[in-house]
Amino acid sequence: MRTRHKPWADDYLKENKHIVELEPVSKHKRWKDNFSEAQPIHLEIGTGKGQFICGMAKQYPNVNFVGIEVVKSIIVSAVQKVKDEDVNNVKLINEDAKDLREMFSENEIDHIYLNFSDPWPKNRHEKRRLTYSTFLEQYKTILKENGKVTLKTDNQSLFEYSLVSFSNFGMVLEEVTLDLHEIEDSTNVMTEYEEKFSAKGQPIYRCVARFV
Ligand code: SAM
Repeated sequence: MRTRHKPWADDYLKENKHIVELEPVSKHKRWKDNFSEAQPIHLEIGTGKGQFICGMAKQYPNVNFVGIEVVKSIIVSAVQKVKDEDVNNVKLINEDAKDLREMFSENEIDHIYLNFSDPWPKNRHEKRRLTYSTFLEQYKTILKENGKVTLKTDNQSLFEYSLVSFSNFGMVLEEVTLDLHEIEDSTNVMTEYEEKFSAKGQPIYRCVARFV
């Protein structure tokens, strides 16, 4: 996701501390206290500009959503979207998702979404893929028993790699869809990348995998 440097981003995030958590490690074990309603927490990793998380928050008001986005100049757009859409069940974290166990307690999350994650096509970068085994270990810890991971991508290689990675980890593949828009799932909330790629006629892959 390309973006211009935004020198005002630091100040903007500080002004919006009620939406974006700048010290997520200190919130460890307390995420549910961070929302006005005690309800299940779903986590999106690589939130981008916030279209998916805001759409989901409106569609599922009985769920609390946390989005992690590592790039400051991108997460500011997500913060702005949360404000524009006036949703109160979204919190954002400006961090790398590599240490999720530092930010969340065991069994704290009900569902994880990986939307159009960076594919890291080179073999030597395999460990950076968000479906690499070390990430799955983290997901398993912070997810509740039988917690699920939903992956959406346009990238066939990442999709195939992830199916194998989920299976090797002993996860159950509950859904594997090779052309999401063909099946017309009315509950599907599109991400920015999903809109862009599907407009070009590219199929969108989706997989729902459950830990056992
Ligand atoms: N999910 C959005 C969508 O579908 O439109 C954005 C997709 S974009 C290709 C991937 C996003 O994930 C980027 O904004 C990137 O900065 C973020 N990202 C990649 N690796 C990350 C990580 N380890 N932790 C947090 N964010 C990450």
